[in-house]
Amino acid sequence: MARSLSYVTSTQLLSLARNPRVAIVDVRDEERSYDPHIGGSLHFASETFSQKLPDLIQAVKGKDTLVFHCALSQVRGPTCARLFLDHLSESKEDMDIKNVMVLERGFNGWQHAGRPVCTCTDSPCKGTCS
Ligand SMILES: [Zn+2]
Repeated sequence: MARSLSYVTSTQLLSLARNPRVAIVDVRDEERSYDPHIGGSLHFASETFSQKLPDLIQAVKGKDTLVFHCALSQVRGPTCARLFLDHLSESKEDMDIKNVMVLERGFNGWQHAGRPVCTCTDSPCKGTCS
């Protein structure tokens, strides 16, 4: 089954994120350490994204939807999402992933829209703070 990249708005992500089968993947680089993040999101920096792909695959076992984002989701977010899609199509592994998405306007858009952010320094974020 061919998978393609689609976009979600912050409003759509807000309801999607309640589903335990959805993983949010933050691919910002150093901004992740000083800017807040979306609660429960995984962090795989775009700079090392291709090397860390096997770790990401492990981290999203059992998920069926991944939502990628960077600060604006213009370059890094979609680029990493495509790398992931390419990996999926080449991989012989049996993955449950059905949807690979990008958050429109990225983390900045999410924050400006007044969506909840998390300021913890836990790695990975447990997503329990509000
Ligand atoms: Zn957090």
